[in-house]
Amino acid sequence: MKLLTYVENGMEKVGVLSACGAYVYPVNYASMNELIKNACPNCLKNMAELANKPHNEVENAVLLENIQLIAPIPEPMQDIVCLGVNYADHAEESARFKKQAYAKDSPKQTVYFSKRVNRAVAPYGDIPAHEDLTSQLDYEAELVVIIGKDAKNVRPEEVQDHIFGYTIMNDVTAREVQNGHKQWYFGKSLDGFTPIGPWIVTKDEIAYPPQLNIQSKVNGELRQNSNTSLFLTNIEEWMVELSQGMTLKAGTLVATGTPAGVGMGFVPPNFLKVGDEVECIIEGIGSIRNKIVK
Ligand code: MG
Repeated sequence: MKLLTYVENGMEKVGVLSACGAYVYPVNYASMNELIKNACPNCLKNMAELANKPHNEVENAVLLENIQLIAPIPEPMQDIVCLGVNYADHAEESARFKKQAYAKDSPKQTVYFSKRVNRAVAPYGDIPAHEDLTSQLDYEAELVVIIGKDAKNVRPEEVQDHIFGYTIMNDVTAREVQNGHKQWYFGKSLDGFTPIGPWIVTKDEIAYPPQLNIQSKVNGELRQNSNTSLFLTNIEEWMVELSQGMTLKAGTLVATGTPAGVGMGFVPPNFLKVGDEVECIIEGIGSIRNKIVK
């Protein structure tokens, strides 16, 4: 099923998308964080059954087109855990931009970093250009894995059990700020740099491991075009590794990295500017589309 957060009459609500895709059925949770933390398997089954009902049998059903979608998790409980350079082709373009040699035979060691999100941008909301801070505004389409129950010392065979679902994120980045401070945190964490959505697709709808086409477009032009089967570090590997030493709490968002085709990968680089519209698309989930504004 698809779970979403929306605003109706000024109130933030959580709902499930009808199987036909046209209606939203509200569910009784204060927020998506509460739903992820508290919904038991039976509650989730009931919500999935609700999604399959015709709209005239559901109290308070609303048309999707009549509500305002916001990020499915508008305020993540913690910083987002991110994987850096998790596709080989993006590792190459990143190294070219930074003029470093990319050693194909170097030992594989996953890059982990974090991204602060005070308030996630809605699926069709605006991204502020932060022109005072950056002239290298860039996009990164990414699959996000949402942790469904606290993950500590997870064994490979338990990994799927800890996944709640999946969504799409644009890991918006100010490149000179990312690269100017040794750590990437600042350049990844400016206000409005994290569009997420349009909803969470629960794990039962996506075959594991996810092998999904992932794309981005800028003003309709295809920029990134890859598949999540090409991760350098796959879901099982990072969850087993990270959960050895830190608990990944229910509700944690883990962004799995982006493929080649970001702005810094072009020669010369092709960064975003005010007025551009960037779309991130993942098969089986949908797309988010955001405009760059002053
Ligand atoms: Mg990224």
